[in-house]
Amino acid sequence: MNTEFEAVIGLEIHFQLNTATKLFCRCRSSHDAVPNTNVCPVCMGLPGALPVLNMEAVKKGIGIVRVLNGKIHSRSRFYRKNYFYPDLPKGYQITQYEASLGTDGYVIIKIDNFEKKIRIERMNLEEEAARSIHVKTGDVLLDYNRSGIPLLEVTTYPDMRSPREARIFLEKLRNMVLYIGASGCDMEKGEMRVDANISVRKKHSAGYGVRVELKNLNSIKAVEDALTYEYTRHVENIKKGIPIEKETRLWDEFKGETRSMRRKEESHDYRFFPEPDLPELILSEEFIKDVVESLPEMPDERANRYVNMGLPVFYVETIIRDRAMADYFDKVVSELNSPQKVAKILVNELAGLVRKKGHNFQSFPLKPEDFAKLLMLQEEGKINRNQMFLIINRFLEGKGTLSELVDSFSANKVDFVLEDVVKEAISEGQDLVEKYRDGKTGVIGALIGIVMKKTKGRADPKEVRKLLLKFIEEG
Ligand SMILES: [Zn+2]
Repeated sequence: MNTEFEAVIGLEIHFQLNTATKLFCRCRSSHDAVPNTNVCPVCMGLPGALPVLNMEAVKKGIGIVRVLNGKIHSRSRFYRKNYFYPDLPKGYQITQYEASLGTDGYVIIKIDNFEKKIRIERMNLEEEAARSIHVKTGDVLLDYNRSGIPLLEVTTYPDMRSPREARIFLEKLRNMVLYIGASGCDMEKGEMRVDANISVRKKHSAGYGVRVELKNLNSIKAVEDALTYEYTRHVENIKKGIPIEKETRLWDEFKGETRSMRRKEESHDYRFFPEPDLPELILSEEFIKDVVESLPEMPDERANRYVNMGLPVFYVETIIRDRAMADYFDKVVSELNSPQKVAKILVNELAGLVRKKGHNFQSFPLKPEDFAKLLMLQEEGKINRNQMFLIINRFLEGKGTLSELVDSFSANKVDFVLEDVVKEAISEGQDLVEKYRDGKTGVIGALIGIVMKKTKGRADPKEVRKLLLKFIEEG
């Protein structure tokens, strides 16, 4: 970044709410259906069809307002935003405009160990337009399945000062919305869409430069790249004295540049007026309270709770980022009150196994209660760490119930004398022992392997190593 100029960036983010049905009709809200099958007179905009508000969308919207620390308005309403476009059969979009469900939110982001507050101006409910698909012949195909899917639009204040800040903000925002389960937030599927506006000014000056709006940003990386490109373009033009046009520009991911889409001499006149077919949205205090109470613990509060448990920041951040993992962690800790130990093994070992087996912490077949049981057995010395993971792996392969597997591994059933097995291994692995004595100490691993094989994994590798070293030394 140039030290003389700074960017002023604001973002507008649309989240598709993952309700079962659309915002104003009972059609299914789904991505995978055959085009134009989830449709009805309401979402196709046929004359005379009347919208009925889906309260599930309102609940999910409240969830987002809450997680973004916003003010939930008990009174809001819907407006018609009038414009003509083929994907908008009614000739208007129903949106909340200036009577929002939520306002005055914020997200705290961390930049180089400093905290910064990004303020959110509005959180509005609105409906999706249909999907236009531009095909090679030059035709445009329309899929009305998307028409009427509920959206929550988040508009920030222009509080970001660099493309990197915008990226960090978006990553945190996406995590928070994912956290409360209000949207799938998959940008490739269009479940989360971002428009950005940027202007550039001399650092520390109070005025603003000319604002450019950026579209076609299909990933968080694309947002950062497009903003970086624009920032550089603005700085160069300002230095050369070339005026910046107020316009909308499209990001071309392949060329890595933006190009002009339309000039904005004056802003569109959408002729907003209150939607006459929908009453004012009035939410009772109890309704709001019930919705808020049904939400999961907010990520920032949860992070504080973990810090108070004595978890190091790295573990707190890793666990909080994945809500299913945080839920798993909480359940294990409720059975076995050693948060630090549980966090360490969850982050460093179990998370890798969960991913490797193609699961997440919610779908993982080993329930947190059972994992807690295994950890307890380990604490009691009945199984060792190595055996614990062997048990987990065999359980995941369907080789028995957990209690059967635990029984077969339990130290109570040990039918060997470790010293004898280690001695056997040494006599069988004389060549390895020689190598070890020649200074190739790495071969100790192979010797440990022999013992583990002989004991079917029931020995404690640390103990085995100790005995091996002792006997080799003595021998
Ligand atoms: Zn419909």
